[in-house]
Amino acid sequence: MSEFGMTIEGDHVIGHRMFEVVDPATGEVFAQAPECSPAQLDAAMHSALSAFTDWAADDDRRREVLDSAAAAVLAAADPLAELLTAEQGKPLADSRREIASAALWLRYFAQLELAPEIVRNGKHSHARIYRRALGVVAAITPWNFPIALAMWKIAPALRAGNTMLLKPSPCTPLSSLELGRILAGVLPAGVLNVVSGTDPLGAAITAHPTPRKISFTGSISTGRLVGVAAAQALKPATLELGGNDPAILLDDVVPAEVAEALFWAAFGNNGQTCFAVKRVYVPDALHDEVADALIEIAGRVRVGDGRQPGVQLGPLINGHQLDRVRGLVADAVRHGATATAGKQAVGPPGFFCAPTIVTDVTDGIRLVDDEQFGPALPIIRYHDLDDAVARADNGRYGLTASVWSGDPEWAHSIATRLDCGQVSINAHGGAVRPHLPFGGHKYSGIGVENGIWGLHEFTSMQVISGPSGT
Ligand code: NAD
Repeated sequence: MSEFGMTIEGDHVIGHRMFEVVDPATGEVFAQAPECSPAQLDAAMHSALSAFTDWAADDDRRREVLDSAAAAVLAAADPLAELLTAEQGKPLADSRREIASAALWLRYFAQLELAPEIVRNGKHSHARIYRRALGVVAAITPWNFPIALAMWKIAPALRAGNTMLLKPSPCTPLSSLELGRILAGVLPAGVLNVVSGTDPLGAAITAHPTPRKISFTGSISTGRLVGVAAAQALKPATLELGGNDPAILLDDVVPAEVAEALFWAAFGNNGQTCFAVKRVYVPDALHDEVADALIEIAGRVRVGDGRQPGVQLGPLINGHQLDRVRGLVADAVRHGATATAGKQAVGPPGFFCAPTIVTDVTDGIRLVDDEQFGPALPIIRYHDLDDAVARADNGRYGLTASVWSGDPEWAHSIATRLDCGQVSINAHGGAVRPHLPFGGHKYSGIGVENGIWGLHEFTSMQVISGPSGT
């Protein structure tokens, strides 16, 4: 069985204790990952702090190193994708795309300017705003896109001149540990430390005095704990949390034209995507046609082991998620819903679940009101568009949404009424790009990642003013 190591001070460090990593396609333990000890955590923090001054000092060098990091990630893409699929379950092609996106993020931030802003340039006086690196950044990530979401933090944090400690989810530690090993070949020692461990390690990281910032992606309940820990120590935290993202179809939509895009926006990565479509609001007159089109696609999707050619959806991450999704569907059915599942589910022992379309549902049941984070999509009828917009906007979440129509201007006017971080028109998640800010409103998060705005979150502002010419 494979054993993986952490990266601390550029070295490969094994654990004194290990924890098991399960292949979700087989349900079997296939590897061991290190449980970072308190002494190893202190060593990793110390290493990041020691590397900070030199790393922050040379802007040009940082940009070159990030470009080299992108090349190193791409050079290792195939084995890294295999590891990602083995621990997370997603089809190999999706793992490869995720790793390619990590290189794209590194290249984007390598070229992004972080120049001082001149805010006064008078005859007698001058003022500029500088963006200073914060110090050590602690990054904590979830299991759904371990490499991409780690890179949303690594690329801007390092670009801004910070050094880092990354802790991946205990469900998917291996690809991040491997990423740490790959990047140790191009980054100076201590600039990126990658440690692994179970959930208490996350709490130990947020309570540690060294980091000057916490960047967290995960659930709302854990995000709240992270926010409290950061507030206690008066340090900033960016929190990227859950969503219950609505898609609103307007009454001029042609169901056959939108069904495929809508389906994959909901079911890609088995719905285990923070910005997946999680509920669909459909005009009464189009309801049956939309539902039938989605059911038809669900019936022909190939579910299976992500390593097999042609598989489009792998297993869910673990038995807990599988039980949760099944429980939400069962609860909806108890409340009068009709659940129609695709026919191609396989397993056990793997954690497979056929994509499931749920009709005859409305707001007020858990599948509609909560984030399902799995392959079960409620289709909700509406009679009045204003009412649909109000229901879509209701609740504690505010991550992303989409509006679908043959009239983009009409769709745009509806988009402006929704209280969430991103709204796509005739697509969903269409604005998840390295140069556009991503972040949730309400309980879906605090702060943004990506673009110049995400880069700024890894800095503090400093004004230097004085006589002209200084
Ligand atoms: P989670 O909150 O259970 O875990 C996330 C990370 O936090 C893991 O690394 C975990 O070990 C760590 N952790 C656990 N307890 C901790 C503590 N007390 N202090 C600090 N860290 C701790 O989330 P998950 O189940 O891994 O991921 C699924 C959730 O993530 C979903 O709700 C999803 O919507 C959300 N998510 C959000 C985004 C976004 O960008 N908004 C992206 C992906 C996933």
